[in-house]
Amino acid sequence: MVSFLSIDEELGLTKQDRTSEGMILNKIWQNVCDIEVLITERLNSLEGEFEKAQKNGNVLMPCPSCRQLALIIPENKCLFCYYSGPAEKIADKYISEVLGISHYEKIKEGIQWPQHDCPSCEIESLVDMGKHNKDFRYFCFSCGGKWRDDELKFCIECGRLFEDNKLCICNSCYDYKVNSD
Ligand SMILES: [Zn+2]
Ligand SMILES: [Zn+2]
Ligand SMILES: [Zn+2]
Repeated sequence: MVSFLSIDEELGLTKQDRTSEGMILNKIWQNVCDIEVLITERLNSLEGEFEKAQKNGNVLMPCPSCRQLALIIPENKCLFCYYSGPAEKIADKYISEVLGISHYEKIKEGIQWPQHDCPSCEIESLVDMGKHNKDFRYFCFSCGGKWRDDELKFCIECGRLFEDNKLCICNSCYDYKVNSD
């Protein structure tokens, strides 16, 4: 939490200013603190539900709506703010809200939107979290599957991600090739 003094310095407020602007700022910060206390209290009260969800095989992810680590997958709902939706939509919102990549940026810089078909459940809800993510690189918001950077590859035939099989094409493209020869 930023101290009151440093905010004064940053805004260049003098002692006199503090009587008016300072009072307003004081009130704002008090409200921010109150909100933080409420959030912590609510998260603590949900502790049991988080444990239960994880025991049932759910994965906890940051919610793209409230940003709390309270989104349970594959149940597709946030225990904190009750946000819910189809996996593809959650994945899309996660990319823009949590990873901070905008559709505008994507078009401007020609980058690929990091949302793919999942190699396990085949729903377009697999998100490429980026190489910097230590525990896993790919996460599916439909089945909750996780893969490390070296575990998935793009198929040179169909362009979809597949579990590395030491070939450069996925199993379905391989089967298709073998059967059509
Ligand atoms: Zn939420
Ligand atoms: Zn999946
Ligand atoms: Zn393929």
